[in-house]
Amino acid sequence: MAAISVSLSVVQEAMALSSVPVCNAGSLKSPSVAMRSSFGGTRLKASCLKTRASGSAPGSLVTRCTATVPASTSAKSIDTANDARVYNFAAGPATLPANVVKQAQADLFNWRGSGMSVMEMSHRGKEFLSIIQKAEADLRTLLKIPENYEVLFLQGGASSQFSAIPLNLCTPEDTADFIVTGSWGDKAYKEAQKYCKANLSFTGKPGKYTNLPSESEIKLTPGAKFVHICANETIQGVEFKEYPNVGDAILVADMSSNFCSKPVDVSKFGIIYGGVQKNIGPAGVVIVIIRKDLLGNAQPQTPTMFDYKIHAENKSLYNTPPCFPIYVCGLVFDDLLAQGGLEAAEERNIEKASLLYDAIEGSNGFYKCPVEKSVRSLMNVPFTMQTPELEAEFIKEAAAQGMVQLKGHRSVGGVRASIYNAMPKAGVEKLVALMKSFQSKHSS
Ligand code: PMP
Repeated sequence: MAAISVSLSVVQEAMALSSVPVCNAGSLKSPSVAMRSSFGGTRLKASCLKTRASGSAPGSLVTRCTATVPASTSAKSIDTANDARVYNFAAGPATLPANVVKQAQADLFNWRGSGMSVMEMSHRGKEFLSIIQKAEADLRTLLKIPENYEVLFLQGGASSQFSAIPLNLCTPEDTADFIVTGSWGDKAYKEAQKYCKANLSFTGKPGKYTNLPSESEIKLTPGAKFVHICANETIQGVEFKEYPNVGDAILVADMSSNFCSKPVDVSKFGIIYGGVQKNIGPAGVVIVIIRKDLLGNAQPQTPTMFDYKIHAENKSLYNTPPCFPIYVCGLVFDDLLAQGGLEAAEERNIEKASLLYDAIEGSNGFYKCPVEKSVRSLMNVPFTMQTPELEAEFIKEAAAQGMVQLKGHRSVGGVRASIYNAMPKAGVEKLVALMKSFQSKHSS
């Protein structure tokens, strides 16, 4: 065993991975406390101490943790231990294709003979330029993005686009319509109120966001600058199968949680955007696909970093981009192309989602999915059981079998299995097997 000093966030992250946190470091009451968690199947021990940071004001404390990493989880053993990986059903950051992670590992120290890792490269050097240009070209191929659209690799997450979109498309007097079918669409609607006249054209809140509106239920504003939808609501598991007809208005879609999960007719949209940390790569990049004629009308007070025109003119290199996450996105695009593109990805996703929804439907009500059948997400599958205690036991049992992060979002509870592109069918089959055995055990 080797004792190493790590920051609190590293320890918390390791604990989050295990999904069995024993204590919350943020609520430490005693000056020193031991934390334990499992990491890669073995136990991780960490002791934390609250101390005064050097140079800090009297009374201000920082928490420092020392983690003891068991020898079996050292970098060397993870190198070869394929089976140390769990089935990770997290909603995001989420599982990545194993071969992509291994490729990143192989490239890590010395990217393709350049003598440096991607983390160390200048974003303006020829090596990184080749990486970002190939990533963009491959994404264009995958989504068949027309020439009159820009592809931007930005920072600030999908959440920052909730402000950037109205700032770029509207004056403060313009109206923008929001079709709100879940928690993320609601956040986008609330944020837009700061920058334009945001109008609620539909809200699924009274029905607890378990359905999508029919055309007649959507009240569009004549002359609205854009209409916003969230293509897949990650928390509630509601996904648009067809997109609303918005006439001459610009359709804007948050595709964070179903980006590249199926083919999309990009030409129907003015803007498609999404954080990549679900289907495409590590957290740190948000991709914006924007029709070129929409550039150049940002409100005068728009921060430079939120102005799409600036980023388009600078090919996403106005400032230092998140180089390493962009590189991993590129590996994922490569992988998707090698596996037959988005048509093939959609087939795989339908097959996996059907396994899970069929198991729920075939359980005689032991498992229930609240979402209306025709709009169930291929990516995020929420389900409930008779009691929260039973759900907690199921989640614990799943974790013991190497299936992690199945807890529903804190705002809705229940269980949620996120089965993005990179979740192997074997992972879903294993989950379904557990659902069946768990039901037998608990049905009297
Ligand atoms: N939109 C959707 C649909 C999401 O699922 C999320 C994140 N879970 C966001 C927006 C916010 O993304 P970010 O954390 O990248 O800001």
